Amino acid sequence: MIDTIIFVFIFLFGTIIGSFLNVVIYRLNTSKKIVNSRSVCFSCNKTLYWYEMIPVLSFLIQKGRCRGCASRISHQYPIVEVATGIVFAILAYHFMPLLYINTNLYIFYLSYFVFIFSILIVITVYDMRHKIIPDRLVYMFIFLSFVLMFINTTGMGEIFVLPSVLQFVAGPLLALPFALIWLISKGTLIGFGDSKLIHGIGWMLGISMGLSALFISFWLGALFGVVMLALKKMKVNMKTEIPFAPFLVIGCFVAFIFQLGIFKLSELFIF
Ligand SMILES: [Zn+2]
Repeated sequence: MIDTIIFVFIFLFGTIIGSFLNVVIYRLNTSKKIVNSRSVCFSCNKTLYWYEMIPVLSFLIQKGRCRGCASRISHQYPIVEVATGIVFAILAYHFMPLLYINTNLYIFYLSYFVFIFSILIVITVYDMRHKIIPDRLVYMFIFLSFVLMFINTTGMGEIFVLPSVLQFVAGPLLALPFALIWLISKGTLIGFGDSKLIHGIGWMLGISMGLSALFISFWLGALFGVVMLALKKMKVNMKTEIPFAPFLVIGCFVAFIFQLGIFKLSELFIF
């Protein structure tokens, strides 16, 4: 019962944060202030009331249109809100065993990872919209991953630990090949931002899970490419830029939630 209440609460909290992430996505690298600036309709500039900004619900009630000028509101709003809610609820579930051992620790880990994945959600959508990963966000992610190496997330023993050498090199080691591909291809095959993102993923997950995350991202990316080709949605040539951050973030999330080391991942494919 208490678990269900927590999930529902965290999901709703996630949709509210998701609504804020939408604002960040739209205002990042523009002259608009992220906080201290009222939300307006992009078409008619009408200032939005609080009841026009309720996550998901407002969009459904207004049938996806502005109450002032009836122009369409982007589907990005409800999608990001629901997705953030789901990600938060899954994280809450992931750390659940800790809740009964050490409630404070549960709240700490959950907050930490909720923050990390909020950044990753913004990176994902921003990359889809602009085909670029904002430096500020990816550096923040790398920093949080770095600090994470010194925190023992098992919930047993000391809270602060020293990372192993292998864990320490995981970030640079996973990122290096991609940085080289970026350099050699002059940025046509992969962006430097992707390589930075992979650096953060390496520090967050370590070598084994980090490799799994990469494999999952590449499979998903390839699958996406094939489906798009089959649907003839894309004219693929050397200049086709597919944002890669979304796949990296999904790979990172899946590897983390299932604690999918590279050996566990390979076992899944041996019957
Ligand atoms: Zn309007």
